[in-house]
Amino acid sequence: MIKYYSINGEIVPKEKAMIGIDDLIVTRGYGVFDYFRVFNGKPAFIEDHLDRFQNSAKELGLEIPYSRAELTTKIKEVVAANEMDKCGVKVILTGGYSTTGFSPGTPNILMMVSELATYPDSYYTNGIKLMAYQYTRETPYTKTTNYLVPIQIANEIKEAEAMDVLYHDGTYISESARSNFFIFDHNNTLITPDRDALKGITRKQVLAIAKDHFNVEVRPLTVKETMAAKEAFMTSSSKAVLPVRQVDFWRINKGVIGENTKKLMRLFEEHLEQYLANH
Ligand SMILES: *Cc1c(COP(=O)(O)O)cnc(C)c1O
Repeated sequence: MIKYYSINGEIVPKEKAMIGIDDLIVTRGYGVFDYFRVFNGKPAFIEDHLDRFQNSAKELGLEIPYSRAELTTKIKEVVAANEMDKCGVKVILTGGYSTTGFSPGTPNILMMVSELATYPDSYYTNGIKLMAYQYTRETPYTKTTNYLVPIQIANEIKEAEAMDVLYHDGTYISESARSNFFIFDHNNTLITPDRDALKGITRKQVLAIAKDHFNVEVRPLTVKETMAAKEAFMTSSSKAVLPVRQVDFWRINKGVIGENTKKLMRLFEEHLEQYLANH
């Protein structure tokens, strides 16, 4: 059971974790975050997540009130307070209290602990369906708290019996709402877009592992190539490597999960275990 959150470095009971409504995160939706998965007190790939969090803050002109070491300590403290073996920690840096209602003020830093998200086994054995959607995120290289579009179209996604969206600009694929996207072509080359896609940590780790097993290309990926792909999958901290069997009405590899994807799913799990054993 989750009992505690952390607000500006102080552990507080979850129901008392509050900030003032003048914060730009409330009035304008201005803020950044990162999501840490913690196993036995160890946040997975923490250096990468801290790098991205600091970078996101910088992109939005916000100052994180803590050093990396302090952030690490605070994250571990809120996890320890909840006595959880494994959990997720969402760390949000807000735009802060604004005197003008528009310019950033002193940010608040919020840490919310949650149970790790789980997805049905069938997602991993049968793959999932994505709904293609023409959209480019406003700040594609920054992990902001703004998910206006995917939340707005949630019903459309559900009606399409899809699990999530696949963003494209008419020619090129970028990513999914909260995940990166990859294909294997018929030469077993692994391709992931480099344009308008967030630099996911799982993406980074998967690319590093894949280099030893496959030809890897990080470059613009067209919708056309995706339709002709041999395999497809997406990645995120909470989903790991999740096979994609279908985009709209188009079934990839006749809807069968490919061997390359299965191999990467296994390699990523081993890589994560190795990381946790060594840190
Ligand atoms: C968080 C997120 C991802 C995935 O990043 P991970 O670090 O692998 O969890 C991809 N795209 C968007 C838009 C995201 O918010």
